This record gives sequence, C-alpha cells and structure tokens, in this order.
Amino acid sequence: MKAPPSFDFIRINKLNEFYENVDRYSSPLIISGGTVAVLMLKNRVIRPDVVIDISGIEELNVLKKDKEKNEVFIGSNIKLHELKSILPDDSASELILKAATTVGDIAIRSMGSVGGNVCLGDPGNDLPVALAAVGANAVVGSREGIRTVPVSECYVKPFKTVLKKGEILLGVSYKMLYGYRTSYNKFFINFLDHYVGIVAAIAKVEGISIKDMRMAVSGEAIGTTVKIDLAEFSKIDEINAIKDKLNKFVNERSMSDDRFGTVKFKKKVLLTLMFQAIDEVLKA
Ligand SMILES: Cc1cc2nc3c(=O)[nH]c(=O)nc-3n(C[C@H](O)[C@H](O)[C@H](O)COP(=O)(O)OP(=O)(O)OC[C@H]3O[C@@H](n4cnc5c(N)ncnc54)[C@H](O)[C@@H]3O)c2cc1C
Repeated sequence: MKAPPSFDFIRINKLNEFYENVDRYSSPLIISGGTVAVLMLKNRVIRPDVVIDISGIEELNVLKKDKEKNEVFIGSNIKLHELKSILPDDSASELILKAATTVGDIAIRSMGSVGGNVCLGDPGNDLPVALAAVGANAVVGSREGIRTVPVSECYVKPFKTVLKKGEILLGVSYKMLYGYRTSYNKFFINFLDHYVGIVAAIAKVEGISIKDMRMAVSGEAIGTTVKIDLAEFSKIDEINAIKDKLNKFVNERSMSDDRFGTVKFKKKVLLTLMFQAIDEVLKA
C-alpha cells in the first residue's frame, strides 16, 4: 500500500482558524473533498508540511443569491452533486450545471467540491471552463482581506493557479443571465483518462441579432482555461466569420505532438467542439 509522507494535520471549522494556522507552515496543503489531494499525497507528488482540512468550515458551505445585484455566490465547500438542487434556474447556472454533472462519476461528484475543482488547475477540470464562459469571479480570502479574480485569469499553467500561499478560495460568484442558449461539450480519451478538449458557450439571440455571446475552452490540447472574446459579432449570419476567428485562434495556439495526440488531431478536436458549440447556441 502506498503511504503518504509525514505531515501535520489540522482540521478546522472556522475561516479565522485557517488564517491563524496557515502562516505557521512553509508548504501548507488545503484539502476539501480530498478526491485528488489524497491521491497526490499517496503518490508523493506533493510533500506539504501540513494538510489543512477545510471541509468543516460551514461559512464555505453556502449558496447565496443576491436578488438586488442579480448575483450568485457558490461557497467552495459545496459538493458538485449538490449544485443540481440548489442553483437558480438562470442560463449561467444552467451552463455551470451542465459542466458539473459531467464530472467523473457519482462518487467523485459526491465527495468533490466546487473549490477543489476550481483550484486543482488540471486542464481536464470541468467547472473552470463553464465559469470562465459565464464571466464568473473567484473570490479569494487571506489574512489581508478578500480579492476577486476572473476565473479566466486564475490559471498560470497546468496545476498552477494565481492563488498565493496563505490564500484560500472562498467561492465563486457570477451574474445570473436570462434567455440564453448554452452548450457544453468535451472529447474524452478513455484509455488516457483525459479530456483533449472542453468547450463551453453561452449566447443570447433575438431574431437575427446576437445580443451577447461568450465562449471558453480548455483540455489537454489547450493546457489551461482560456476565454475567447466574441463580442465583435452581432448577427447570426456572421457565423462563418465567427468560425474563421475560432480557426485562427486554434491555429495560432502553440501545441506539440504528445501522448494526447498529434497537433493536427488536437486542432481538429478543438475546432469540431467549438463549431458544434457555435451551432448549438446560435441556430434555433
Ligand atoms: C477518478 C477521478 C475522476 C475525475 N474526473 C473528473 C472529471 O471528469 N472532471 C473534473 O473536473 N475533475 C475530475 N476529477 C478531479 C476531482 O475529483 C474534482 O475536480 C473535484 O471537484 C475536486 O474536489 P475536491 O474537493 O475533492 O478537491 P481536493 O482533492 O480536496 O483538492 C484539490 C486541489 O484543490 C485545492 N483546494 C481545494 N479546495 C480549495 C480551496 N477552497 N481553496 C484553495 N485551494 C483548494 C487543494 O489544495 C488541491 O490542490 C476526477 C478525479 C478522480 C480521482
């Protein structure tokens, strides 16, 4: 049996206790559902001097709907499987739910948290793509206070986020959107157990006018979550121009042949998913 390296273990119930404890260590590891963190510990991929279990912090286990600001806040300890019964019925939530319901299997969704999904930084993570597409913010806490970062700007490279030592993801917030069409698609290679491409899109169409359209992509072909700006397009008959822009985006990305496929294959996967998403959100 694989055993993790030795470390201190602290289970906390209040956010203040996190800030008090985290500064006493040089390489702390936060754990929430533990679906990946425990595997990383057992395989000694990481060697923290303390593991801080935040799953008992009730302040992070909340969903808030602010009707005046038209905003939703999902606390980072909320489990993925819970989202179905607590999210409002707006279009942004619909897209987030489409992503959440495709994560792993029921066991992973029952244990895995929203915070763990957003903070892992694996290019195969589902929630960051949908959150980036709807324009969600990561709400990050530290002893110094709270800062917000667009989810689309949270990722530096695979498994590296912009969160600094001493910081914790409190949750994610986003504006509710109404009357949008949503699309969420991904391409999985079973024997590699990884997603080559993931695409999330959301658009509001009235007649032939595109009132708003947003897209984000991720997966091993891209390496991190990236938001694509499609704001210049305002008519559905510009669909070929939209696809030209997506083609340019994919062809300008730096990629290399690796175990997830050749560059040609990865580009083909991404473009197929992106074009499918555009068709789904723009065509009635
Ligand atoms: C078999 C299997 C299949 C999977 N399939 C998928 C899939 O299809 N799609 C997908 O997206 N993911 C998948 N995952 C990955 C993972 O299970 C999910 O991303 C899950 O949501 C992670 O949540 P967790 O609470 O278990 O995170 P943990 O394992 O507790 O933590 C994961 C990482 O996030 C950090 N972290 C957790 N919470 C916070 C916080 N509040 N603030 C700062 N850092 C934090 C931890 O330090 C750690 O680095 C899979 C995992 C396994 C083992």
